[in-house]
Amino acid sequence: MPELPEVETVRRGLQPVMEGAVFERVEARRPDLRFPLPEGFAERLEGRRVESLDRRGKYLIARLSSGESLIMHLGMSGRFTIEEADRSRPGVFALAQECDPKHDHVVFEMTGPRPARITYNDPRRFGFMDIAAPDGLETCRHFKAMGPEPLGNSFSAATLKEALSGKGAPIKAALLDQGVVAGLGNIYVCEALYRAGVSPRRKAASVAGKRSDRLYGEIIAVLREAIEAGGSSLRDFAAADGALGYFQHRFDVYDREGENCRRCDKPIRRMVQGGRSTFFCPSCQR
Ligand code: ZN
Repeated sequence: MPELPEVETVRRGLQPVMEGAVFERVEARRPDLRFPLPEGFAERLEGRRVESLDRRGKYLIARLSSGESLIMHLGMSGRFTIEEADRSRPGVFALAQECDPKHDHVVFEMTGPRPARITYNDPRRFGFMDIAAPDGLETCRHFKAMGPEPLGNSFSAATLKEALSGKGAPIKAALLDQGVVAGLGNIYVCEALYRAGVSPRRKAASVAGKRSDRLYGEIIAVLREAIEAGGSSLRDFAAADGALGYFQHRFDVYDREGENCRRCDKPIRRMVQGGRSTFFCPSCQR
């Protein structure tokens, strides 16, 4: 499932063909993804210019000349493919993995300096698209309870400490809570906890002092490194699907059950917390 770094990589891939471009034609091939598409979906986009393409947590936000905003979430398996009409090499952004066209659900024909067809493909259909009214973005259901952007100015060691204090849940669950900090998912939470030496079972409120300072620093570092890795995949004309970032990124604990810890050489363990797998090193994480 794409997390913040993968979504940021997708944003950087889409930005050159979306920002400043106009939706010439929008084709929704089905009425719904995970949720029904908003009323008048195509009509509210067609003829509108994309003023900017932003990201909030795991969401992409295209701010439109109408004042409305198109909100896009990739869910588990959503991906965008870009085909540029006037390029000798079509599909600069083509996918490493095969994309079955029967799962092409939404197509944007963009006009502008770089005319392109952008196709949203999503086999499992956990992704969705929505449109927020002018001035309704911050208060819409997707963002009103969302915590600070981890790489933004509003997130600091102090805000993390504050958000964790009083929480009885395990730190693993607290970090997955998008109200504590936006954009983290299972993979980067496991990695950040390992790097900070914090046990995923530890009560969130007990992660304080130097421990929470260290955790804050590792959350930032692990996200920055993953975005960097995603950026290099873009330079190599690779996919906009986010999944690529997982393949070429080297994880310390995620999906390494039974393999040796790179610090202490003991085996990495897996346990289930809240229905999700947690990977950790019992001797390095306290
Ligand atoms: Zn270890």
